[in-house]
Amino acid sequence: RSKRRGRGQITVYSEEIAEEMRRGTEVEQALRRAIIADEVAVHFQPIVNLLDGSIQGFEALARWTDRELGSVSPGLFIPLAEERGFIDSLTETLLKKAAETAKHWPSHMFLSFNLSSAQLIDPAIAFNVINILNSVGFDPRRLELEITETAMMTDPETAQKVVEELRSIGIGISLDDFGTGQSSLGRLRDFAFDKVKIDRSFISEITRDKPSEHIVRAILAMCEGLELKVIAEGIETPAQAAKLIELGCRIGQGYLFGKAVDPEAAMALIHAEEESRIRNSTVYALRG
Ligand code: C2E
Ligand code: MG
Ligand code: MG
Ligand code: MG
Repeated sequence: RSKRRGRGQITVYSEEIAEEMRRGTEVEQALRRAIIADEVAVHFQPIVNLLDGSIQGFEALARWTDRELGSVSPGLFIPLAEERGFIDSLTETLLKKAAETAKHWPSHMFLSFNLSSAQLIDPAIAFNVINILNSVGFDPRRLELEITETAMMTDPETAQKVVEELRSIGIGISLDDFGTGQSSLGRLRDFAFDKVKIDRSFISEITRDKPSEHIVRAILAMCEGLELKVIAEGIETPAQAAKLIELGCRIGQGYLFGKAVDPEAAMALIHAEEESRIRNSTVYALRG
């Protein structure tokens, strides 16, 4: 009897797995179609100077809405593309699009682009990235590639070589989601980064929770010593922004300043900012 129940459970379990795989394959097929049909879009979230709100650059974030599945989160389809082995072609499409958009921005604004873990240990990645930038005509010095700590763990030696190669052609490297994952401070010593992005989980607690505040304070002090720029992620309230300014953080992004928007809306933000600057300087000029 118990044997039968055991068998029954095994059957149920494998049916669940089969169902999950079937669903995964369904999403995979839809995603492959979307890439070919050029339906995966790139949106842009502003990264601002916390003191005056001026736009420093934008982070490119992948967006995909399927006719049947609806809007699918990149937190779901990026890992799927990695797992099923077509993250390279997806990234190529996304980087091309992002750079095409960003080359029309004022030249002081940077483009931040997420690299997935599998790509950080691909020895051809620097070559591929530079080829894309050349074909689009985008200055590599305006590109920041965001990488995560987990990405560096799989093969630190190759990852380090890749990072050095990318930096040698002028591309900046940001350490994304800092403070989460299998963090190791040694990574900050061994790798040459340009920026560190403090994970949203610390920022969301910063005004409520003393430990989070202390951790952010320590990250800022450490990065100052290491001459790394710091970006605070996921700022949602004026109180969080005020706290970060008080702690000495100067750059951030989050819903308080704006969600990721399509290329046209990003350009509208840039124009609105330019117009307000012109208006202000005219006011100053008139005041003498
Ligand atoms: P990430 O790189 O850490 O990106 C930040 C995520 O936080 C984005 O979610 C963004 O929309 C969200 N966010 C920004 N500000 C706020 C805020 O104030 N509050 C809250 N609650 N959320 C905020 P998204 O777009 O869903 O992306 C999730 C993750 O998917 C990204 O995390 C990144 O790891 C990955 N991803 C997105 N686009 C790409 C891409 O083009 N390539 C690769 N490889 N990964 C991507
Ligand atoms: Mg990111
Ligand atoms: Mg992040
Ligand atoms: Mg994050």
